[in-house]
Amino acid sequence: QRLKEGLAKTKQGITGKVDELIKSYQKIDDDLFDELEEILITADIGVQTTMDIIDAIKDKVKSEKIKDPLAIKELLKEQLFEILNELSDDEKLKIEPSPAIILVVGVNGVGKTTSIGKIAHRLKGEGKKVLLAAGDTFRAAAIDQLQVWGKRAGVEVIHHQEGSDPAAVIYDAIQAARARNAEVLICDTAGRLHNKKNLMMELEKIFRVVEREYSNATREVLLVLDATTGQNAIQQAKIFNEAADITGLILTKLDGTAKGGVVIGISRELKVPVKFIGVGEQKEDLQEFDSKAFVNALFG
Ligand code: GDP
Repeated sequence: QRLKEGLAKTKQGITGKVDELIKSYQKIDDDLFDELEEILITADIGVQTTMDIIDAIKDKVKSEKIKDPLAIKELLKEQLFEILNELSDDEKLKIEPSPAIILVVGVNGVGKTTSIGKIAHRLKGEGKKVLLAAGDTFRAAAIDQLQVWGKRAGVEVIHHQEGSDPAAVIYDAIQAARARNAEVLICDTAGRLHNKKNLMMELEKIFRVVEREYSNATREVLLVLDATTGQNAIQQAKIFNEAADITGLILTKLDGTAKGGVVIGISRELKVPVKFIGVGEQKEDLQEFDSKAFVNALFG
């Protein structure tokens, strides 16, 4: 239900418009496909993915001699299922065997801290012993905010002062995770993309520390992207993917955007699975990405 509410704008942007479109046509022709293409591109599904979807629907219409424009909606749904299916069997967060470390990367403002808080809350609820590391030492506010989330989730936060070396925070957090037998350590990192070189060097340094100090830990590197930025999110993802082997994506703020189609295009383009989607600001508003539930929410 929350998923459905959270995706309301995207649903309006895709299936709402498709409904209007197919009602206004008497027969299936090229104009209809052109308009359908525009709807999908506007919803940020991505150009290539849109083309592939349109081609597949055209083939089906031809081979099955479909005449009724109203059938297009169901064909679209089938195609979306197929595309999301071919990518992954909805890969879950990998935190077994323990200990596990989750490095969370992304540009400032995308919802990194919030997502970390939500994941901590979720894992704590599953009975896991969780520890947080305030690796974004560049902004005092980021450290404070992570502590607020730590309190909310009932999870300890390892932190240093503003301006200290992020890799040193992560080093300490790893020692603390060991000492306390934490099953999952979740690390925040800085996200100053305007200073790309420093950011990447900082991330690489953190990765070296993890490699050296915690090589036995199950590792996830999650990139957080703001879905409202649509295709820009894909550009950011490409940059981060150069510095770090991203193992999963978190798409935030789907509740505020009609560009939720980006979820469909992005994992296909990057070949990295979407693991979570954010559909609001509360601690419950981070959901495991379930492609079937996602498509059903758009069409339901
Ligand atoms: P960070 O700079 O990447 O750590 O970003 P924050 O975690 O501070 O988030 C920036 C803003 O986005 C905050 O106001 C969050 O409440 C908000 N936010 C994060 N995730 C979501 C989401 O899924 N939906 C909505 N509506 N807001 C979100």
